[in-house]
Amino acid sequence: MNKKKNQVRKHDPIVYFADIAVQNLEQKKTLPSKFKRMLGRFRLKEKVAGKKVAIKMHFGSGIGYTTIHPVFIRILVEELKNAGAAQISVMDRKADDGIPRGYTPEVLGCNVISTFGDTGKYLYKDRIGFKGLDYALYGGEAVDSDFFIDLSHIKGHGSCGFGGAMKNIAMGVVPHETRTKLHGLEGGISYDPEKCDMCKKCIESCPNNAIWLEGDKKDKRVSIFHNCTYCQHCILICPNHALDVDDRKFVDFSKGMARVTKKFLQKFDPQNLLFINFLLNITVFCDCWGFTTASLVPDIGIIASRDIIAAETASLDMIKTEDLLPNGMPKNRGLLDEGNHLFERIHAKDPYHMLRELEKIYNCSSKYDLKEVK
Ligand code: SF4
Ligand code: SF4
Repeated sequence: MNKKKNQVRKHDPIVYFADIAVQNLEQKKTLPSKFKRMLGRFRLKEKVAGKKVAIKMHFGSGIGYTTIHPVFIRILVEELKNAGAAQISVMDRKADDGIPRGYTPEVLGCNVISTFGDTGKYLYKDRIGFKGLDYALYGGEAVDSDFFIDLSHIKGHGSCGFGGAMKNIAMGVVPHETRTKLHGLEGGISYDPEKCDMCKKCIESCPNNAIWLEGDKKDKRVSIFHNCTYCQHCILICPNHALDVDDRKFVDFSKGMARVTKKFLQKFDPQNLLFINFLLNITVFCDCWGFTTASLVPDIGIIASRDIIAAETASLDMIKTEDLLPNGMPKNRGLLDEGNHLFERIHAKDPYHMLRELEKIYNCSSKYDLKEVK
């Protein structure tokens, strides 16, 4: 158990926005320059001087290329150095996952490490006490930082509706064991042999070799092994809808995500937290798929706030169904008829739901005051 005391916070509704649209063709009017000015609004010198700073991001995997561009991370690192940070580390589950996308110490100008330390076992355990989620494990490199920056790429997600700052903590600061317990709150996987044509796409899509098909056309059976993380890749790829999540418990899943996030955030003085969401290359699925599809909507810009839910809510509010780009959806999928948000019309899950759960149990708010950084 980490010794940090639970921190009480006051809601700070200010959300800064840097628009990708440019006024004219000057370098200082473009997004990286606006990002630098946006960071200036957070008075980093007062906040990070002499401190150990963690920048948690998702490095992506495989041949994916739409994670956060290294140019922005380099700017962030330079600003932290200028502000006198004693140590800066960019982190995700495995440091090596960052190499193909240019997240290296040479490019970024700081350490690139695993959140779980060199051994993968630098972890803290904290009680959660919600259904099967008895406790959560948290990466020690993140927990033991003095100032935590949640640097997230906004995109769709099969389990959460969308992935952003909250997912970057609840699924990203925790190891496989806790992620599996969280996904376990959604229920098991059902299989309808009548619909299955044994194309085996589900097997090919599984990142964990956790699904197997046996038998023949007359007697088809599917086996799901214990290393299934309920990521739903197999369900989403099945052309015949033969697989599904049993007893959909999205509400429980959202509550679990909120509780894991709250426990982590409480370890920090709110003044030592910063949430930055990149609304660029907003794709239908998460970067963990290991490949990239076209953007769902035009690029929007960057959001930053000290309040996680204000940042997430503002980000979701800026993504409009009517802006959907034709190539953004895979050709074999269409939008659902029901849903109030583009992500809900894709993943059948209200993306605000998870945020409301956190708002209920942690002193943060969906109310925000948007200030554009020109
Ligand atoms: S993807 Fe669907 S149809 Fe194809 S083998 Fe798997 S369950 Fe059957
Ligand atoms: S849910 Fe994910 S881990 Fe489980 S069998 Fe399907 S693809 Fe594999």
